[in-house]
Amino acid sequence: MKQGKEKIIDCHIHIHFNFPGSVKTAEGIGLRYSPDGLMRDLKENNVVKALIMSTFSNGFVKKFVKENPKHFWAAATINPLNYKIQDLENLDTDIKKGFFKAIKLYPGYLKFYPADEICTPIYEIAMRYKTPVIFHSGDTSSSHTLLKYAHPFNIDELAYKFPKLRIIIAHLGNPWINDTKEVISKNPNVYSDLSGLFPGKYFPYKEELKQKLLEQVEDLIYYAGAEKLLFGTDYSLVSHKEYIEFIKRLRIKERDFEKIFFKNAVKLFGEP
Ligand SMILES: [Zn+2]
Repeated sequence: MKQGKEKIIDCHIHIHFNFPGSVKTAEGIGLRYSPDGLMRDLKENNVVKALIMSTFSNGFVKKFVKENPKHFWAAATINPLNYKIQDLENLDTDIKKGFFKAIKLYPGYLKFYPADEICTPIYEIAMRYKTPVIFHSGDTSSSHTLLKYAHPFNIDELAYKFPKLRIIIAHLGNPWINDTKEVISKNPNVYSDLSGLFPGKYFPYKEELKQKLLEQVEDLIYYAGAEKLLFGTDYSLVSHKEYIEFIKRLRIKERDFEKIFFKNAVKLFGEP
């Protein structure tokens, strides 16, 4: 695409500024890993808004976004296998008050199927406020997880059960991008984000892997269209600069870049 100053919304980032493991990984790829460093990265890359995923609990992300509402949105999380009625009520209130723009769930890590009825109360809240539910999908990067719950094909049943639920398959369900392609094409209420397809660190076949991934993403867009795709990085596993450059290599039309980098996110989450 042409190298301009088009506005970008990043629909998938994480902030674990206090976790030693995350700090080490982030610094290993050259990130200035702090709130200020992140803010500078966003500015330099014309990212006008970034959606932060809560991972274990909601408090830290909620507080951070309340203090920095200009640059960030927050996604809440909840464990469908272990929550109290109070947690659901808090989720409902926080979404109603506008603190959370999305709900992020982790089926492969926590081991539940997205269409399992234990999740229904969460989806009822999501549908009440038209709040998208984002599912970590695809690779789970730990042997303590189960891939059968993280496969994007599970989303088909959920989308069928709740046609009004807005659903986002994170990471294109990588490496099952081909399955995600059909699930988003068939179901009007299912979207996918482009985040985290490769780690930012150096490895021997990095460039070859990037090329193969681009071909798969192109396949998906030629088949399903660009209307269902959201740009996301998975910061701090990759840098904004590298990831934006990577996505800009796609052989697609200019207007599709505009949808992926900005317009589709506005449709789902509102004006940045
Ligand atoms: Zn992520």
